[in-house]
Amino acid sequence: MRPATRLVQFNACPGEPFGATCTPVYQTATFDQDSPLEFGRYDYTRSGNPTREVLERQIADLEGGVRCFAFASGLAAITAVLNLLGPGDEVLACDDLYGGTYRLLSRILARRGIVVNYADLTDTQAAAAAFTPRTKLVFLESVSNPLMRICDIKAIAELAHRHNAHLCVDNTALTPLSCRPLELGADFVVHSATKYLCGHSDVTAGVVTVRDKALADELYMIQNGEGAGLGPQDSYLLLRGLKTLDLRLERQQRSAAKVAEFLETCPGVTQVLFPGLEKHNVAHLRQSTGHGAVVCFRTGSPQVSAAILESLTLFGIRVSFGGVSSSASLPCRMSHASIPAPVREARHFPEDLIRLSIGIEDVRDLIEDLRRAVASVATVVCCEPAVCSQGVA
Ligand SMILES: *Cc1c(COP(=O)(O)O)cnc(C)c1O
Repeated sequence: MRPATRLVQFNACPGEPFGATCTPVYQTATFDQDSPLEFGRYDYTRSGNPTREVLERQIADLEGGVRCFAFASGLAAITAVLNLLGPGDEVLACDDLYGGTYRLLSRILARRGIVVNYADLTDTQAAAAAFTPRTKLVFLESVSNPLMRICDIKAIAELAHRHNAHLCVDNTALTPLSCRPLELGADFVVHSATKYLCGHSDVTAGVVTVRDKALADELYMIQNGEGAGLGPQDSYLLLRGLKTLDLRLERQQRSAAKVAEFLETCPGVTQVLFPGLEKHNVAHLRQSTGHGAVVCFRTGSPQVSAAILESLTLFGIRVSFGGVSSSASLPCRMSHASIPAPVREARHFPEDLIRLSIGIEDVRDLIEDLRRAVASVATVVCCEPAVCSQGVA
């Protein structure tokens, strides 16, 4: 089965006696046993829940892994992978990452005696030079957030394995429909399922899928032992959202490409970042069949960027991405504010960067809204010489 078929043709109700079409929500913490000496399939929802397991089976199949584990958020899923490490181990992470992941690595992991080294993993040679004998895990995003940079997953996986380390890829930006990191050699693939997999901005959830049975057993021990597994109601909502992933993504990606094309010709826009514009990026073309629906652009001035956001009417000003309705954010003040300003500066993180998440609306309405907002701000701002001199007009 191809993924679009698989999304709606799967065993949604294993063992269900009434012929239900949709997975029942097993909203129960406990399961009664026939005997104190012999346990049935389930005993306690932290350890296993039928609704969550249907979801986990479905995502494992989409990613091509042996098993998937669902957690209460994307960061809880990433935490589970990091909990495989111990004191003295080192993580090699890409130097462009979602702000929350950066905070988890730099502020929480460090307390456990784990060292995190950052490097530009889009440069495979720089990556090779950044390993130490203690590197146990390499962490990167299939399209980095928010600078949209792309690492060669296969090359980094080979490097990691040569150094006896595992590779974890955060595939939130592309979804398994556009990129399958496990097939490229990654050992773990994680998602903030809050984004495209759910698609409706009504659940926070995260998933980890693994290729290897022994790692799966360890992760199960962590999911059960720590207790951050996804609850039955959220598992149900995520399963429901997932059914339309192919339809949503097809529309969102097509619209995002049109928005990126429009922005490239829009006066007042100084730079557009979108993987679909990376027509010569060999790694991206080889490892992905889609571009996601996040488009970033710059204006040359943080004040102008903020004013554009305030002037948009169809794009909600909010963090997150991947939902059915479009949104806009200023990463340096919102999703990435958890990266300290000096670190952002050292990494040349653009303070004027606007991140758009393109939804399923009619793209003509979205482009009209953008055209009007950019033009109205450019007119107002150009009366103010101080801002104009920053190269807005
Ligand atoms: C949002 C996000 C996360 C964190 O996921 P939560 O569900 O918010 O915990 C991790 N990685 C990426 C790329 C994200 O965009």
